[in-house]
Amino acid sequence: MRVLVTGGAGYIGSHVVKMLLEQNYDVVVIDDLSRGHREAVPAGVKFEQISLLNYNKLQSAVDSLNVDAAIHFAAFAYVGESVENPGMYYENNVAGSLNLIKALQLSGVKKIVFSSTCSLYGNPEIIPISEKESIKPINPYAKTKFMIEQVLNDFDSTFGIKYAALRYFNAAGADFKAEIGESHDPEPHLIPIVLQAALGKREKVTIYGDNYPTADGTCIRDYIHVYDLADAHIKALEYLNEKNESLIVNLGTGQGYSVKELIDSAKEITGKEIKAVIGERRAGDPAVLVADNKKAREVLGWNPKYGLNEIISSAWEWHKNQKY
Ligand code: UDP
Repeated sequence: MRVLVTGGAGYIGSHVVKMLLEQNYDVVVIDDLSRGHREAVPAGVKFEQISLLNYNKLQSAVDSLNVDAAIHFAAFAYVGESVENPGMYYENNVAGSLNLIKALQLSGVKKIVFSSTCSLYGNPEIIPISEKESIKPINPYAKTKFMIEQVLNDFDSTFGIKYAALRYFNAAGADFKAEIGESHDPEPHLIPIVLQAALGKREKVTIYGDNYPTADGTCIRDYIHVYDLADAHIKALEYLNEKNESLIVNLGTGQGYSVKELIDSAKEITGKEIKAVIGERRAGDPAVLVADNKKAREVLGWNPKYGLNEIISSAWEWHKNQKY
């Protein structure tokens, strides 16, 4: 089976490419390299540097690549940046995704796995968060993801395109061989920041608020290893093939950790001093985001294998010897 991976040079996309290859899928990658890293894609994989905003080039590539399914990652994914520059997010994430979905539909590709986000639940009412939680995105990034879920739903109704919208919690960790990993510039995410502090690349970590209604006052998140996420993408692809039904599913471990717990765990795993100071809350951060992953377990037969230890230790191996 030949699978198109857009954004395959990015953090999550590159781990999915690696796992697809290990499972003998034929993989082609489209990435504009605006955020991704060419080195993250193995040399033997067919790679096209194309922006999803270049419709004509995209359409002819999709036509000639002859793929059976697509996994669509290519998007901007910084909440803060989306608030500062909403136009850039609506253009890249909405217009770009729409171009891709149209191109796939015209080429007769009927299976799409889409990387969505738990941030479309906004400040959820019920924790852990199930797929029944109401949709209340509170930033442009989350809105772009929800818009594309709706587009996919309409393309299902009209053209029978089947999609899996995977609503991720906090993707983290790295390849266990440390060949690929997370590399953003600037880096907004907690785990890389904490590990950069452990390496002495940053003086300290600023904890964004310790007055939340949680046990230690810091925000709680559900960190999920990028290989558990990758596994869920392949299971979603298999589900679309077997069941020919669309699917919306949360992907998290169901276990939450506070910012302070995470820093303590990183100190223990790295054996390094990590200086942390309390700062202001970051706008738009809900106190607790933890997944109810019952649906993913039942429908996909998915079982996240890795916990916080594997997440931090694999990320640590990557950051100690970061290749890109
Ligand atoms: N966070 C923090 N300091 C940082 C970066 C993040 O305290 O330098 C907190 C942030 O407020 C959130 C958690 O760590 O509660 C995870 O943030 P991240 O940006 O990694 O992921 P998000 O939950 O925003 O997707």
